[in-house]
Amino acid sequence: MSLRLKFNLILIAIFLLSLIGAAVYFNGYLEKNAISDVRQNSQVLMATALAIRSYTTDEIKPHLDPMNEKRFLPQTVPAFAATETLRRLRDRFPAYEYKEAVLNPTNLRDRASDWERTLIEKFRADKTQTEATGIQGEGIQRALYVARPITIKDAQCLVCHSVPAAAPASMIQVYGDKNGFGWQLNETVGMQIVKLPMLYPLEKARETFYSFMGSLLTIFALMFVALNVVLSGLVIEPMARINKKLEELATKDFLTDLVNRRRFFEQLESAMAASRVNKTGLSVAIFDLDLFKRINDTFGHDSGDVVLKNTALRVRELLRSSDCAARIGGEEFIILLSETRIDAAMAIAEAVRGKIANVPFERVGTVSASFGVAEWDMKEDARTLINRADRALYVAKETGRNRVVRADAAV
Ligand code: GH3
Ligand code: MG
Ligand code: MG
Repeated sequence: MSLRLKFNLILIAIFLLSLIGAAVYFNGYLEKNAISDVRQNSQVLMATALAIRSYTTDEIKPHLDPMNEKRFLPQTVPAFAATETLRRLRDRFPAYEYKEAVLNPTNLRDRASDWERTLIEKFRADKTQTEATGIQGEGIQRALYVARPITIKDAQCLVCHSVPAAAPASMIQVYGDKNGFGWQLNETVGMQIVKLPMLYPLEKARETFYSFMGSLLTIFALMFVALNVVLSGLVIEPMARINKKLEELATKDFLTDLVNRRRFFEQLESAMAASRVNKTGLSVAIFDLDLFKRINDTFGHDSGDVVLKNTALRVRELLRSSDCAARIGGEEFIILLSETRIDAAMAIAEAVRGKIANVPFERVGTVSASFGVAEWDMKEDARTLINRADRALYVAKETGRNRVVRADAAV
């Protein structure tokens, strides 16, 4: 796996984890905030209802009560006042709701629905419970409600709600004598309930969430690109250049640009493996420049170097791309000839010998080389093959130099 791929995978994993973490945290946080805002508003609405109720009881009722004798005025009933006032609020905020739901109301408009009845029964069963809050409905109907029990604390209330005989006749005239009686002191007869829509605050929270996640994603994408650019510029490209240089240093001969001994042996091993599979011949030709010491001594070391470089160029011109030439010692070279049997290898070695010996070198003049050529017998290892070629080279030197000797003839 490349360094860039590893780096990017780690980066993506970190980004994904951060995004998921942020999404989970902020989704919960924003929703909680939205609900808490609605809850706060619901408390304000409930307090408003209570304020209207107490204002009605303290400021309106005492003045209008005498008129109740003739004609019952529902405006003097706190529940009526609160319900009517907050009903007007709904003209502007339609989804906001205030109701005084009662099990057995005087005004049938206030009777509890099944759902409200269940809630009231809970208040009746547990007198210590002073408030119930929760979410009701689904989708756009989803609303937060806050309910408080209506418990008869004031004996004054029972004037209108104990028995019809005790109630003002004007009230019986309006509402009849069937509903709203039989209430007891300390009995929970109903509840005040406010409902506030959740849709808008939750939508707002969702929008905030999406725009936050969108910016986070954009930041991550920009960081991803920036880190990749930085990684390329500061790490990957310099490293690739250094690796290439190191590879060259480890495998190339600095003077002739041919491969070195180490790379030659690698090439030879893989050529032997291919040859074994394809059943093709494989030969090596090793050669050493003749009396090179004398060239150095006569023309100087630099001229000797020029001869070495030039020899490498002449060898290269005669080789196929599948062949490989290396400098394995001072003035000693070796050529790997893949898919080449001994006779063809001898011919190539002869051609190289001619190319060196027949064309004089600049300043130095004629230079010759002695060759030993061996074909791989498919069994021996690389070292044994090269030793055989080396012995043939030795014979070439012994027998007068500037010649090619084949290994099987050289024992
Ligand atoms: P022979 O025909 O028996 O091979 O004789 P020779 O003089 O070539 O053999 P010898 O081994 O005595 O000398 C080899 C010389 O090659 C000695 C050394 O100074 C020279 N030599 C080795 N490496 C280099 C090199 O990189 N550059 C130069 N200019 N000379 C080198
Ligand atoms: Mg020599
Ligand atoms: Mg030598």
